[in-house]
Amino acid sequence: MSLNIWHPFTQHGLGEPIPEIARAEGAALYKADGTKIIDAISSWWVQTHGHCHPKIVSAIQEQSAQLDQIIFAGWTHQPARELAEGLADFLPRSLDHIFFSDSGSTAVEVALKMALGYWHHRGEARQKILVMEHSYHGDTIGAMSVGARGVFNQAYAPLLFDVGTIDFPEAAAEQAALDQLAAFCKDSDSPPAALIVEPLILGAGGMKIYSPAVLREMAAICRAHDVLFIADEVMTGWGRTGTIFACEQAGVEPDILCMAKGLTGGVIPLAVTAAKDALYQAHFSEDRARMFFHSSSFTANPIACAAANANLAIWRDEPVQERIDIIAAAHQAFADRLQRRASVSGLRQCGTILALEINDGAGDYMSSIGPELLRFFRDHNVLLRPLGNTIYIMPPYCITCEELESIYRVIEEAIDRFGTS
Ligand SMILES: *Cc1c(COP(=O)(O)O)cnc(C)c1O
Repeated sequence: MSLNIWHPFTQHGLGEPIPEIARAEGAALYKADGTKIIDAISSWWVQTHGHCHPKIVSAIQEQSAQLDQIIFAGWTHQPARELAEGLADFLPRSLDHIFFSDSGSTAVEVALKMALGYWHHRGEARQKILVMEHSYHGDTIGAMSVGARGVFNQAYAPLLFDVGTIDFPEAAAEQAALDQLAAFCKDSDSPPAALIVEPLILGAGGMKIYSPAVLREMAAICRAHDVLFIADEVMTGWGRTGTIFACEQAGVEPDILCMAKGLTGGVIPLAVTAAKDALYQAHFSEDRARMFFHSSSFTANPIACAAANANLAIWRDEPVQERIDIIAAAHQAFADRLQRRASVSGLRQCGTILALEINDGAGDYMSSIGPELLRFFRDHNVLLRPLGNTIYIMPPYCITCEELESIYRVIEEAIDRFGTS
C-alpha cells in the first residue's frame, strides 16, 4: 500500500505514463534500465551547468556535514555571507541588498511586498502593480495575480488582486505598449507602485521575445514617474538569454531583481530578491513595526547557499560563456535549416533558447497536438515539453553538439509528422 503521488501540471485522468529517472549526468537522464534521455529543457529551466556537476555535488556534501540548517532571523552563517560577497560581482552595483527565499514564486512575492512596503512606509498611496500581457511569475496567489489570467487560474480568480496590464510589445506595435505604460504611470487617481516584467523573453507565456530597446524604454518610463521597476529574472537569469542577466543587454538596472532557478545551478531550491538601497532604507528604522515582515523556515539554507557558491565558482572558473555561445550558434544554424519549412512559424531565438510553432490549425496551450507532441518526444527519449504547439529548446550549457543535433533531428521528425502548412 502506498499513497498516490499527485504530480504538478499533470492531468492524471489522461492516464499518461510517468517515466521514472534513476540518475543523471550532464545533459543526460537515465532510467533504471540504462535508457538515455536527453534533457532538452534543463529539467524545467533550472539546470545550467548540467546534472550532478562535481563542484556542486561536493559543495552540498561538505556543507551538509558541517552546518545543515539555522534560523536566519537574527542569525547568519558563512555560506550566506560568501554568497552575498560573490553575487556582488554578478549584479549591478546599485542592487546592494539581497533577501533570500526558496523559489521563483516566493522571490516574486518578496519583490511585491518590498515594493508595497516601500510606498507604505514613505506614506504614499501607491498600490497598483503593472504587468505585461502573457506574463508568468509563479503559482502562489500573489505571483498568479501578476501573471496572465486564463485556464491555469480561473478557479482562483476571486483570490487574485487587480493589476494594470499593458499589451505584449509585439514587433511593430511596441509604441502602443509603451504608451499604455506611460498612461498608467501618469494616472494620478491610481498611481502605480511598480511594474514587474520578465526581461526580453516571456517563458511560460509562450517564449515570446521583445527587444532590449523596449525593455530599456519601459525602465525609463517607470523611472520618470517614480514607478519601481521589478525584473523577474527567475528564468532569464544565469546565462539563459546569452548574458548572465537579461537586463544587461538593455543596460537596465532594475530597482528589484528576482532570481531562482539557475542560482544553485538548478540543483536545490534557493531564491534571491535583490533590491536597491532605497527599498531597504524605507524599512530601516528603530521602529519594529517597519521591519520587512517576510520569512520562510528555510530562508538562506546553508546547503542551498553552498550550492549557489559552487555555481558562482563554476561561472568564474569554467568557460561557461563559451558554452552558451556555442549553443546559440548551433540554434542559429538549426533555425536556418528550418527556415524553408512551411509548417513552421515564429522561429525565434534568445541566447540558449530556441522556439517555434508547429502549424496545426489550432494553436494555444490547450492545442490538441500538445499531448501528442509530448508523447512523441517521450517515445524518442528526448525531454521536451511543448507549450501547446510551441516547441522550445532550453538545454543545460554542458550539452554536446551531438546531443544538440539529436534534439534537432527529433524536432524535425515531429514537424514532418504533425505539421500542416
Ligand atoms: C519559473 C518561474 C517562476 C516561478 O519559479 P518557481 O521556482 O517555480 O516558483 C517565476 N517567474 C518566472 C519568470 C519563471 O519562469
